[in-house]
Parts: sequence; structure tokens; C-alpha cells
Amino acid sequence: MSKHLVIIGGGAAGFFCAVNAARMNSALKVIIIEKSNKLLSKVKISGGGRCNVTHACFEIAEMSKRYPRGQNFVKKTFHQFFTTDTINWFEERGVKLKTEADGRMFPITDSSQTIIDCLLREANKYGVEILMNTEVKKLSIVNGEWSIKLSGSRDLISDFVCVASGGYPKSSMFDWLKELGHSIEEPVPSLFTFNLPKHPITKLMGVSVEKAKVKIIGAKLEEEGPILITHWGLSGPAVLRLSAWGARELRVMNYEFRVMVNFLSDYNEQSLKEKFLQIRTSNPSQKIIGKNIFSLPNRLWEFLAEQAGITNEMRWADLPAAIQNKFIKNLCAYECEVKGKTTFKEEFVTAGGIKLNEVDANTMMSKKIPNLFFAGEVLDVDGITGGFNFQQAWTSGFVAAKTITGLVRET
Ligand SMILES: Cc1cc2nc3c(=O)[nH]c(=O)nc-3n(C[C@H](O)[C@H](O)[C@H](O)COP(=O)(O)OP(=O)(O)OC[C@H]3O[C@@H](n4cnc5c(N)ncnc54)[C@H](O)[C@@H]3O)c2cc1C
Repeated sequence: MSKHLVIIGGGAAGFFCAVNAARMNSALKVIIIEKSNKLLSKVKISGGGRCNVTHACFEIAEMSKRYPRGQNFVKKTFHQFFTTDTINWFEERGVKLKTEADGRMFPITDSSQTIIDCLLREANKYGVEILMNTEVKKLSIVNGEWSIKLSGSRDLISDFVCVASGGYPKSSMFDWLKELGHSIEEPVPSLFTFNLPKHPITKLMGVSVEKAKVKIIGAKLEEEGPILITHWGLSGPAVLRLSAWGARELRVMNYEFRVMVNFLSDYNEQSLKEKFLQIRTSNPSQKIIGKNIFSLPNRLWEFLAEQAGITNEMRWADLPAAIQNKFIKNLCAYECEVKGKTTFKEEFVTAGGIKLNEVDANTMMSKKIPNLFFAGEVLDVDGITGGFNFQQAWTSGFVAAKTITGLVRET
């Protein structure tokens, strides 16, 4: 009698579990159940349609630091399937990946469809069955087997179940998993941008700074990296990373807080004051606006200068001390009030999910119920932006597949 594996969710984690399990053991009957009418829909839109598959980081200890939730958990799982395995897995199936300057890895085609086609090809090759427009409503164990209640009052029986249903925005959406005895870490959004409603700096939309420091006042949260000024506020990798590390704290603040931006992150107020002194001595007759000495975008330099009270004609030699101090503060410690968040269209994840102490990281099996597995974003694991979330989906899906096929072999 062949064994059955039902995978709930036709996303990255569900597909990776399905195609690997079916390949590793041809006697295993694998079925993916997807509630929507689309497969791999997040893969499709991911990375602006290019799919940031993973990150070029080849040290497990280093890689695991990019997960605000689940660091220790992913560290264990990466020993079984890591970034190099992802790269090789796709390459062996004709999908070559390339690395961008910031470490993000994409298919060389720059199209997420390449990843989707590869996964669909594998599913077809190994006979994975797919049920779409079908939602799993309830899981229960009847006579030692899984009974899976589907929408449309159908039932399925299976030996193994892998839940790869992704992140749910509301705690109540996890009820069908809570009924099994699993507990949930409250879901909250991660990877969002900061709204600065009606703030004058938003006039500079499109302006970016390669290396800025952003700090949340009153919290121990600070990130350095590229920032982008948008028509609604602040965005860019440094801001997204801050939102990930602060996902829970910022939720408690109801997304209302003050940030301090250092646009010249190689300086602090003291060292910039010394630099200003040098400039005043070496270029006393040079106008301040019009000649930006720090390779900041000109529009930003002018904006910060004007906000400090510097006029178009003002020269370095005439800069009054009070205005100079204000300008230095604007450059190194610019404070603004954040009110609200915007979820980033390029990447967005949910922090929270199935509590990690209830899942064995070495097998992805529930510690509470045998033959129940979890993979992907349904777990309380989330990474910062850069390909870390897909890596966790591939890894957890693979580990679950390996364990399940191992168990089938044993029986
Ligand atoms: C716009 C956007 C861009 C992103 N870009 C990137 C990126 O470039 N790189 C990166 O690493 N990460 C990216 N992410 C994050 C990444 O997409 C997710 O972390 C990843 O897709 C999670 O995979 P998953 O399989 O766990 O869940 P999902 O992809 O969410 O798949 C879960 C599936 O389960 C189905 N489902 C849920 N409940 C049920 C049920 N009861 N019955 C049946 N089916 C069910 C859902 O319909 C869904 O199709 C992005 C996210 C977004 C939103």
C-alpha cells in the first residue's frame, strides 16, 4: 500500500517539500492542496517580478543573523539544506542564479517565471497531484491516519501532512492549527516602510542615500544602509531592516515614533563640526548651497541647508554658529515623526506563526503530533529583506521532505 503525503499550500515551501518528497521516494503519493486559483503566487510577484531566490551568504552563523525571529531554529535547519544547496538544486535543473552587488541572488533570466516553471516541471515529472481552489478547513486524526476536511465537504485521508500555508495576518486564521494543540506567536507585519505624513522632506521623493544610519528614538533599534525618500516617507533597505527587527516593538507603539537619520553616517555631530571648521578655513568664500562637499544628493543637501536657515548667497565664512549647529544636526541627527506604515510592494512578510519550541528543527515535525510537519512562513521565522525568507522556505520544505521519505522507508 503506498503512503500519502498531503501538503497544505501551493507556495514556495509547499512546492519544495512536494517535489523533493516525490523525487526521493516514488512510492509516496504527494498531493498539494491550494485554496486559491493560483500556484506560487508570491514567487511570481517576488523581488519585483525577478524573485530574489536566496542570498550569497555561505556561513551558517552569519546567515542566521539575518532572521529577527527564529535565528537558532534556522541555524539547525541550514545544516541540512543551505544556500549552496539552493544554488545547486536550481542549477541542476537548468536554472542558473546570479549574485547582485548587495548579495541578493536572482535567476539569470531576471524573471520569477523561471523559478515557477522549474518547480512546476519537477512536480509534473514526479507525479505530484495538485488540487486548486480547495481550502483545508480542519485536520484531525482518525484511526491513526490524518483526516483532512476540505472546502466543498470533501475529506482526504493521508499518512503525513505538511502545513505550508504561509503567514496569516490575523491570529484567528490560525484557529484550525490551534485546534490541533499548537500555539501561535501573535502575527504582526514585518518589512514595511515608514510614513511621514505631510512632512516637507517627502518633496524629495526619489532621492536616495547609499549609506545612512536610521535610529528609532526611545528604542534600541538602529540600522545602517541605503535609504530612499518616497512621496509618503522613508523606505530603502535600512528602513525595511529596521521594520523587521522592530516588528513587535513598533506594533506596540502603534507605528507612531520618532526616527533620527544620519545622512552622513561616517560622521557624528562632533566630527562633522571639526570637518566644518576645516572647510571654513580652506574655502571661506565658497557658497554653501550649490557646492555639496559630501557627495550627498544635491537636492537633499540644499533642503537640509535651507531648513537650517542657510540662504542661497551664504558663504562658509559667514555661517553663523547657531545656523551651523542646526545644519550639522540636520545632516547627522535629522529627527522626524513617523505616523503609520506602508507595506512594501517588493517584499512583505508576517512575523509570528507556529511557536518554534513545538517543532523539531532537525525534522520539521511537530513535537506534539507525530506525522505532522511545518514548512515556510507559517512558522514563527522571518528574515530581513534580501532572499532570506525564500531560503527558509526552501530549507524547511526540503527538511520536511527528507524526514517524511525517511519515515516511509522505515515502514
Ligand atoms: C510582494 C512580495 C515580494 C516578496 N519578495 C521576496 C523575495 O524576493 N525574496 C524572499 O526571500 N522573500 C520574498 N517575499 C517573502 C516570500 O514570498 C515568503 O516568505 C514566501 O513566499 C513564503 O512561502 P510559503 O510557501 O511559506 O507561503 P506562501 O507563499 O504564502 O504560500 C502559502 C500558500 O498556502 C495557501 N493556503 C493558506 N491556507 C490554506 C488552506 N487552509 N488550505 C489550502 N491552501 C492554503 C495560500 O493560498 C498560499 O498559496 C516576498 C513577499 C511578498 C508579499
